[in-house]
Amino acid sequence: MDSEDEQEREVAPEAVVADLDVESTLRPKTLREFIGQEKVSEQLELVLHGAKQRGESPDHVLLSGPPGLGKTSLAMIIAAELGSSLRVTSGPALERPGDLAAMLSNLAEGDVLFIDEIHRIARPAEEMLYLAMEDFRVDVVVGKGPGATSIPLDVAPFTLVGATTRSGALTSPLRDRFGFTGHMEFYRPAELELVVRRSAGILGIELHADGGTEIARRSRGTPRIANRLLRRVRDYAQVRADGAVTLEIARAALEVYDVDELGLDRLDRAVLSALVRSFSGGPVGVSTLAVSVGEESSTVEEVCEPYLVRAGMLARTPRGRVATAAAWAHLGLTAPPDAVGDGQATLFG
Ligand code: ADP
Repeated sequence: MDSEDEQEREVAPEAVVADLDVESTLRPKTLREFIGQEKVSEQLELVLHGAKQRGESPDHVLLSGPPGLGKTSLAMIIAAELGSSLRVTSGPALERPGDLAAMLSNLAEGDVLFIDEIHRIARPAEEMLYLAMEDFRVDVVVGKGPGATSIPLDVAPFTLVGATTRSGALTSPLRDRFGFTGHMEFYRPAELELVVRRSAGILGIELHADGGTEIARRSRGTPRIANRLLRRVRDYAQVRADGAVTLEIARAALEVYDVDELGLDRLDRAVLSALVRSFSGGPVGVSTLAVSVGEESSTVEEVCEPYLVRAGMLARTPRGRVATAAAWAHLGLTAPPDAVGDGQATLFG
């Protein structure tokens, strides 16, 4: 970023919109460009190429895992690999069956329909989806009460890609209708380093290797966070230094943005702190914990907890959430003798 024009754009009030634009620029467009997730990538490649060779639409695909791990990117890649159009909607947008019927009846043969947050689809729409997935047909009910009639409508053969942060919340009839389920894992720091390097290349950021390593290490195993931290560190590097992202700059910037040594953000730390300080380390129910940090249970459960569990700081037990010895240690407190674990966070590498 050295021209004045570009610097001006960096501080413009449309920064949020610009960030969203950047996110789409950074999306990998092909399976080859998609970093990590070897298991899911390999499995998906077989599903897609097998169907392609037979000249058929592939089975419906369910992608599950925490936010920001690449589910939407994979849905786009699936459509691109098949040479098909992608239609995008989400569970909460499909409140009435009519919303879904309209979407389905507009599909062309071979289209890919992406439903994000599919676990939040309303029941009547979900039931309509069963028939569409299995028989490529929907029954549209016209009228109400005893005079209501059901009109069958054909749907062009399509591939559904569903994404969910809570595969356990899917009903089994819906889950059973997917021919392939890909479980997305948190990324290893080395993989996130590749993500950060690739993004720095696309955005024209001067990234030093140790700066990239530091950003990757503190990105909670999540490419979306890695890209976001890279952009925030770039701001810092540009405003307070000469624009180059070095280790020192990355550390100083991440401190400003409240990202700690282990990559935990404010909400993660608030959850751990409430668990330890207000509930003596637990066990405590997730809804009580969420209220105490002023968040929705679903945010705590779907956004914070998976990483805290993965990092070995929080345990989910039948009686509720429990802070491990590592959580106490991370907050600089002495764990009670019965705390779970050896006090070390699991930093995977
Ligand atoms: P999800 O749908 O799981 O919330 P997205 O597909 O929207 O996640 O990914 C968020 C961002 O992270 C994307 O814009 C993309 O830039 C980046 N990203 C995700 N997965 C990868 C990957 N495997 N390789 C490179 N970048 C990725």
